[in-house]
Amino acid sequence: MSEQWIYLSGEYVLKEDAKISVYDHGFLYGDGVFEGIRVYDGNVFRLQEHLDRLYNSAKSIMLTIPHTKDEMKELVIQTLQKNALNNAYIRLIVSRGVGNLGLDPASCPKPQVIIIAEELAIFPKELYESGLEIITVATRRNRPDVLSPKVKSLNYLNNILVKIEASLAGVSEALMLNDQGYVAEGSADNVFIVRGKQVITPPGYIGALEGITRNAIIEIAKDLKYTVKEEPFTRHDVYTADEVFLTGTAAEVIAVVKVDGRIIGEGKPGKETNSLLKAFRERVVEEGEKVYTKAL
Ligand code: PMP
Repeated sequence: MSEQWIYLSGEYVLKEDAKISVYDHGFLYGDGVFEGIRVYDGNVFRLQEHLDRLYNSAKSIMLTIPHTKDEMKELVIQTLQKNALNNAYIRLIVSRGVGNLGLDPASCPKPQVIIIAEELAIFPKELYESGLEIITVATRRNRPDVLSPKVKSLNYLNNILVKIEASLAGVSEALMLNDQGYVAEGSADNVFIVRGKQVITPPGYIGALEGITRNAIIEIAKDLKYTVKEEPFTRHDVYTADEVFLTGTAAEVIAVVKVDGRIIGEGKPGKETNSLLKAFRERVVEEGEKVYTKAL
């Protein structure tokens, strides 16, 4: 891509010039919220759900987003058009804005809205063919009564610690358990196990982000006549599952073939995971909201 335009609180600036103040509380304290959204062939996938989650995260931390959801929708679409992107990853960020060095958000009068749309770095095809080897890590998921994992905040240290543990162990992804030892989610994706025709994912109260892809997979699995259960499970259940997969905006649906050294099923992406991925890829194009990405 030649020029990349970034929406930065009311104007479009080139990527090289897209800078924020060191006094922005998003930078100083991780005080803000964000979304990662995907565009398939000009179709924005479940933009409304992403906006609902963004506004709920903001409400939870008492951050007033200076736009209505409809205005935000327009801004997202405009940013895609400005960059003439048909297949893209969008990062929508609302930070508390510039304040003083104190913690109190009251010193930040103007939340900052940033929209980055860039060409999609698609996960390598080989990963879908071979599946992932992952581990479980010592880092536990934030307890919902401490910092709710449902708030998609700029404070991602919990997840970053997971990523560091995974990298140190030589794998690219890992599972977090909650404080009681139940499986919660990956560093940036939700987890499912498959047993026969049952598709199981941890319920919200276990402590995980309510993934848009997770919700889409639950719907698709029900449509395909799987029995879908939201119930707690442990590492033992993961090790002994027929199939395991992760879901997320970037990864879509990706098979896990080894967990903590235990081979899952036959050690390759399973039949059910592959059919859910196929159905998901069909659905993203069918149901997306068409956006015409002619350059402005
Ligand atoms: N869990 C976490 C912690 C995440 O950051 C994400 C987003 N990448 C997900 C799950 C998956 O959510 P979604 O399907 O909405 O991308």
